[in-house]
Amino acid sequence: MTDLSLKLPGLGMLIGESRVDAQDRATIAVEDPSDGVVLANVPSGGAAEVDRAVAKAHATLESRAWSRMRPIDRSKLLERIAQMIEDQADSLALLETFDNGMPLALAKAFVANGAETFRYMAGACTRLTGKTYPGAIDGGSYHTYTQVVPIGVVGSIVPWNGPFAMAAWKIATALAAGCTMVLKPSEMTPLTALRLGEIVLEAGVPAGAVNIVTGYGHTAGQAIVDHPGISKVAFTGSARVGKSIVQSSARDLKRVTLELGGKSPCIIFADADMERVAPAAAMSIYGNSGQACIAGSRLYIEHKVFDKVVEAVSAVAKSLKVGCGRAPDTVLGPVISKAARDRIMGFIDKGITEGGKVVTGGTARSGKGYFIEPTVFVDTKPNDTVTREEIFGPVVVAIPFKEIDDVVRQANDTPYGLGAYVWTSDIGRAHRVAHRMQSGSVWINSGYALDPAVPFGGVKQSGLGYELSEEGVRAYTETRTTYSYIGS
Ligand code: NAD
Ligand code: MN
Repeated sequence: MTDLSLKLPGLGMLIGESRVDAQDRATIAVEDPSDGVVLANVPSGGAAEVDRAVAKAHATLESRAWSRMRPIDRSKLLERIAQMIEDQADSLALLETFDNGMPLALAKAFVANGAETFRYMAGACTRLTGKTYPGAIDGGSYHTYTQVVPIGVVGSIVPWNGPFAMAAWKIATALAAGCTMVLKPSEMTPLTALRLGEIVLEAGVPAGAVNIVTGYGHTAGQAIVDHPGISKVAFTGSARVGKSIVQSSARDLKRVTLELGGKSPCIIFADADMERVAPAAAMSIYGNSGQACIAGSRLYIEHKVFDKVVEAVSAVAKSLKVGCGRAPDTVLGPVISKAARDRIMGFIDKGITEGGKVVTGGTARSGKGYFIEPTVFVDTKPNDTVTREEIFGPVVVAIPFKEIDDVVRQANDTPYGLGAYVWTSDIGRAHRVAHRMQSGSVWINSGYALDPAVPFGGVKQSGLGYELSEEGVRAYTETRTTYSYIGS
C-alpha cells in the first residue's frame, strides 16, 4: 500500500495564506470509499470561517497586487499552475483515487483536464476586452466605451464526483476573469481541492485570491450563498440545492451559474456502427460508476436491433472489472459512500417492484467498500422511477422505439437537459435528431468528451448559464459603460 501520509495536503482550511481549523474545532472524517477507511479529518467550517475567507478575498480583490496586475501576468500565473499540476499529476491522481474511489486512469484524465483548463484560461485572461461606440448619444461628441470587469468575490461550491477537475474549472475561470474567491469542496472529497489551493499559492497567486473552506453544504455552503460580500455563486451539484441557491440569491440578486444533474438519453438507430456503439454506450453510463452528470442513463434502441444491442451492452457491463481504483485492472471503482450505495440499491429495488426486469447486474457487493455491479434494466414504463429519476449510479434503462418523432418526444420527456447521444451512420439524420434534443450538449457517434475551449451547460432543470470557453469567463464579469463628453 502506498504511504498516503506523503500525499496528504496540510489539512486546515486555506484562508489567505494560513491553514486554519474551524473556530469550534469541529472536523469531518474523510473516507476512502473502497474500504471505508478514514483518510483524514478536515475542519468543519461554517459562517465564521466563510466570513473570514470573504474578508480576505475582498482585501485581495481591492489590492493593487491583484487589481492592477496586467492580464498577461495573470496569464503567466495560470500557465504556471497548469505546469505544476502536470508536474505532480501522478500524486494528485492518487490522492483523488483515495478520496473519491475512481480508477487511477480516470483520476489522471480528470487531473489532465484540470491542467488544460488552467492553460485555456491563461489565454482567456488577455482577451477580456470591451467595445467602443463612436456614434452613440449624438453622433460624435461622446467617447463611449465598455469595459469587461471582474464580478467581485465569487463563492464556488463543487460536488464529489470529479472533485479536482470541478475545483480547477472554478478556480481557473474566476482568476482569469480577475475575480477572487471562496471555494467549498464537497465534504466527502475535500483533499485534492486543498492541495490545489496550495499549488495556487506556490505558483505565486497573491494570498487571499483563492480561499478554500471545507465544510458541509447546510453550514459552510449555505453561509457562502447567504454572504452579502459574495457577488456570484458558481455551483455544481444537485438540482435540489441549485434551486434553493436561486431562491436565496434573490435577497441581494447575486449572480448565479448552476451546473446540475441529468437523465441524458442515448438514441441508437439500427444503422449505428455496432462495433463501437455497445462499448461507448456502456461507458457513457458506467464511467465513474454512473456518477457523472452527463451519464447516458436512458438507452433508446431502434426495435430491430433492440435485443442485439441490449445483449452487447450487457456483455460489456459484465466484462467491466469492478474494484478498488488503485488496482491496475479496475475499470469501475466504488460509489462514493454507503449512503450512495443504499440509495442506488433502493432505485434498483424500486425498478423491480414497478415491473422492470434486470438483465444484468442489480447487486451490491457485500464486505468492505461500496461496490455495485453495472446494471441494465428492460421492460420499464415511461413513468417508472428508474426511467425518470437521476440515479447517479451504474444503472441504465433500455427502451425500444420505432419512430423518430416518438423517440425524440421520449428523449425530451424529462425535466433535465444536460447531454444527449445519437448513434446512426446517416449523418443527416444524426444532425436532425441532435438539433431536436433539448439539451446543452449532444454527442453524435461518440461517448462524452469535453474541452475547456467549448461551452458546457444544461437547459431546463440541468442548469443556468455555461462554464468553460469564452462564455464561461464572461459569466464571471460585468459590463461597465463609460460615456465621456468630448465636445462638439
Ligand atoms: P449536492 O447538491 O448535494 O452537493 C453539491 C455541493 O453543494 C456540495 O459541496 C455540498 O456540500 C453543497 N451543498 C449541499 N447543500 C447545500 C446548501 N444548502 N447550500 C449550499 N451548498 C450546499 O450534490 P452531490 O450529491 O454532491 O452531487 C451530485 C449531483 O451533482 C448530481 O445531481 C449531479 O448530476 C450533479 N453534478 C452536475 C455536474 C454538472 O456539471 N452539471 C457535475 C457534477 C455533478
Ligand atoms: Mn472521500
